[in-house]
Amino acid sequence: MANDNKLQNIIAHCKEYGFIFQSSEIYDGLSAVYDYGQYGSELKKNIRDYWWKSMTQMQDNIVGIDAAIFMHPTVWKASGHVDNFSDPMIDNKDSKKRYRVDHLIEGYAETLPEADAKSLLQKMDELLAKDDFAGLKTLIEDNKIKCAVSGTANWTDVRQFNLMFSTEMGAVASDNPEENKVYLRPETAQGIFVNFLNVQKTGRMKIPFGIAQTGKAFRNEIVARGFIFRMREFEQMEMQFFVRPGTQKEWYEHWKEARMKWHLSLGISPERYRFHDHVKLAHYADAACDIEYDFPMGFKEVEGIHSRTDFDLKNHQQYSGKKLTYFDTELNQHYVPYVVETSIGLDRTVMMLLSEAYEEQDLSTDEKQDSRVVLKFPPLVAPIKLAILPLTKKDGMPEIARQLMDECKPYFKCFYEEKDSIGKRYRRQDAIGTPFCVTIDGQTKEDNTVTIRHRDDMTQERVTLSSVKDIVLKAMQV
Ligand code: ATP
Repeated sequence: MANDNKLQNIIAHCKEYGFIFQSSEIYDGLSAVYDYGQYGSELKKNIRDYWWKSMTQMQDNIVGIDAAIFMHPTVWKASGHVDNFSDPMIDNKDSKKRYRVDHLIEGYAETLPEADAKSLLQKMDELLAKDDFAGLKTLIEDNKIKCAVSGTANWTDVRQFNLMFSTEMGAVASDNPEENKVYLRPETAQGIFVNFLNVQKTGRMKIPFGIAQTGKAFRNEIVARGFIFRMREFEQMEMQFFVRPGTQKEWYEHWKEARMKWHLSLGISPERYRFHDHVKLAHYADAACDIEYDFPMGFKEVEGIHSRTDFDLKNHQQYSGKKLTYFDTELNQHYVPYVVETSIGLDRTVMMLLSEAYEEQDLSTDEKQDSRVVLKFPPLVAPIKLAILPLTKKDGMPEIARQLMDECKPYFKCFYEEKDSIGKRYRRQDAIGTPFCVTIDGQTKEDNTVTIRHRDDMTQERVTLSSVKDIVLKAMQV
């Protein structure tokens, strides 16, 4: 299956089976905003829970918080977002379509032979690193790059465009709207920085320690492409790890390794990942890399690991006028801690797991044509863990099935269904990635056994009714 098709098929599948819908679809949708349906929201929640558990429960020195989306406007001045959180853009004068400069050039590079594309992208990276906007415009003009809509090369100058959304707070209209202006946070990290001392003091945390948080973030992405890969409203899972100045390099290496292990623990093979070290570092970083996953559209960032120095805490200290230092009893010294952060997009992780799990299988034999779409999710993140299917509605089978539901549902999400042939019911469960189906049949009443069917290889075995719950629980361990 061509990769382009694969992405389109995944998008269609997500809609058909209740994973992900376009936001406000009945009004023709809102661009780059998505809603999660009944199975998508379970999948997303399971990934979030797994991340949360591995960051907080499994670590002695990391605690979680849940900060508000709205923050004091000065937070975003201190963080550098008001001045620096922007992308270079260019508009086509004829179509009025706006492009992110790197996306425009990358799109054109895809049409070139490999060596030419490589040299063009290298030039682009050099110019981006120097913020050389005039040079970028010349590069676009020299290559005669055209707008996909108007077909012309009639471009404006390259300009910076801030990605933060803003709104007004309070009911009273002010003469100066700037006074009431608040931003929708573009990252969750700042909620952690401004609470650094609150958590450190109330939790009596000792450096090195971390604060984790999951939550919504908002960015006015200009070119929003690739389904839930690049959204305007999305969710992040971030952890800021506060360390002694001078030790940040070793913690950076530690978290690179730990985060890759987390990805591999989802059963994804190492060849599907690579690290990408940043050449152009963000204004706050002294080292940074991405963990890239091989999506249907190629290797792309799913997570960033950044050594943020003391940039954020120092700036908040300066802008707020409040001390944000830590007293290190071992060194007998006050200092502003350094920070290593891990920042992963929850929606991108959903997309990664969908890309990894989605399989179209031809099951045709000489006798008949057959096929299935199966989502091979790791059981831990699968929306439904167990489907309980009475073979018929007679002979007490639904009653036994209901009893099994009652036994299992406090532990994991189950699904009960008695309609349609068993084959059709299996296919529907394959399509939403349910790892186990259990069929209650006439024999169950005689000897308390059921047929358990395994999603990936479709094998079936006879097991006792009382063992079903533990079989599923065991498979959910990673
Ligand atoms: P990109 O280069 O793709 O725009 P970024 O480097 O700006 O991403 P970060 O600021 O490091 O991203 O954010 C951390 C993580 O948040 C990213 O690795 C990604 O998984 C997720 N993320 C960022 N922007 C978006 C978005 N628009 N839609 C969905 N997820 C996003």
